[in-house]
Formats: sequence, structure tokens, C-alpha cells
Amino acid sequence: MRVTFATEAAPGRPNEDFVAAAPDAAVLLDGAGTPPGSDSGCSHGVAWYSRTLGSTLLTAMSQSAGTLAELLSVGIKSVSSLHDGTCDLAHPGSPSATVIMLRHVNDTLEWLVLADSVLLLDVVEAAEPVVVCDDREAQVGALHRAEMDSFASGSDEHVSAHRRYVETLRSYRNRDGGFWVAATDPLAADQALTGSMPADRIRAAALLSDGASRLVDRFHLAGWRQALDILDQHGAAELIHQVRTAEHSDLHGHRWPRGKTLDDATACYLAW
Ligand SMILES: [Zn+2]
Repeated sequence: MRVTFATEAAPGRPNEDFVAAAPDAAVLLDGAGTPPGSDSGCSHGVAWYSRTLGSTLLTAMSQSAGTLAELLSVGIKSVSSLHDGTCDLAHPGSPSATVIMLRHVNDTLEWLVLADSVLLLDVVEAAEPVVVCDDREAQVGALHRAEMDSFASGSDEHVSAHRRYVETLRSYRNRDGGFWVAATDPLAADQALTGSMPADRIRAAALLSDGASRLVDRFHLAGWRQALDILDQHGAAELIHQVRTAEHSDLHGHRWPRGKTLDDATACYLAW
């Protein structure tokens, strides 16, 4: 197996994405940011959360035979236990993250996707890749983002509308009718999209945070097949470079209204 990845923080902030791989497994997490002026009840922060949960999950995937959902549930509990004595884990803004887990066991490839990071599976003899993405947050977000999208990115109005948007979405977090992410509730693991396929049917897989997948699903500058081709032929750093070029061409968000003008971007590519 060939594994390559690249990750790049939005300028001036810690990288809240996390990616790691072992010979038989890969994880990618995208921590949900706490906007300036917003509280989280946690002194560790979102980057700490995604790194700690991500490394916990990779270790568990290499050592335990449990299902991926079971490992995620145990991982969420384990990270909570690291800071429930010092932080307010009941706070609605407590750090959270999307999760992709991918594992090769015997002759099978297994995956788990929670929240809006994107998993692409390049299946043998299929022209288009299988796209696994949980879009529940986008559906809820679409009902609440009109005000934020009406202001130019970078303006004071946009900054405060973005903060209000993030705080509004918190009330939909980890409940039925809303959307599910890894935070403090281990039951979120049961809400993840999971699947498996004979490993010899899959040529390659890509794990993308939404800061990388936006080249396709927000900017529409490439299709999923093209994104896989970029990863295969030019590498993960080139995909992120193309995202950054697009972001810089539209710094005020007129062409592509978005919460974060530049976002943490991470891409991991596995080929067999
Ligand atoms: Zn904490």
C-alpha cells in the first residue's frame, strides 16, 4: 500500500485537522473551530481534541478487533475522561470533530464516516468513485446561513454573522433531527456511516477534510474523479495548492460564499 498525505492550516491559526496512517489503517479528523469571541468550556482547544482523538483511534484500529463504530465510541469516552476534571464537557461549544476511519482487515476494507469529511473509494471498473459523506450538518446549515453568506468575507459583519451561525448550529449538535459529530457523547458513533468491501475491488481511497473537498463540492472546479487523478498523479499537496489558489481568487466570498475564507485543508491518498 502506498500512503501519502498533506495538511495545511489556515494562516495564523493552529491546524485543527488531524491525519495519520499505519500500514493497515488511516484516520482523518476535522475539528470544529471555535470562532473568535466564542466560548467552548475547554482549556485544551479544538486542535488538541482532534489530535488526541485521532491518535487514540489509530492506536485502537491497529490493536483491537472491535468494529470501527465500537472503537469510535470507546475513543470518545476515553478522550472525555482526559479532561472531564478540568473542563466543562456539558458546554454546547465543547470541542468536536468529524471522523473518517479506514481499515484493511484480512481481505476486507472497512470504513466509517461521521460528519462532513469526504471519503472517496476508487472501485475497480467504475468510472466514478463512490463518495461517502454525511451531509446532515450541511442540510441544517443551509437553513441558517443566508445572513452570513450575504456579507463579504473578512468584513466585521461577516465575522459576527459567522459566530452567530456556529453558535446556532450548536443547538442541533448530537441530537435527532440535527447532525452528529465526535464530541462528548459516545452515542454519536452509532450515527456514523459505515461500510465494507472486498479489498481487491478497491484501487485507491482518498480521505478529505472539507477544507480540501471544497475544490469539488463548494467551488465546483473539479469533479471527484479529477480530484482522485490529482492525488494519484500530482499528490495531496497539489490538491491543497489548487484549493488555496481558488480561495485567494475570491477572498471576499462573492463567487463562493463560505464561513471560512481559508480553511484548514487535509488530503490523504491510499493506493493498492
Ligand atoms: Zn478540555
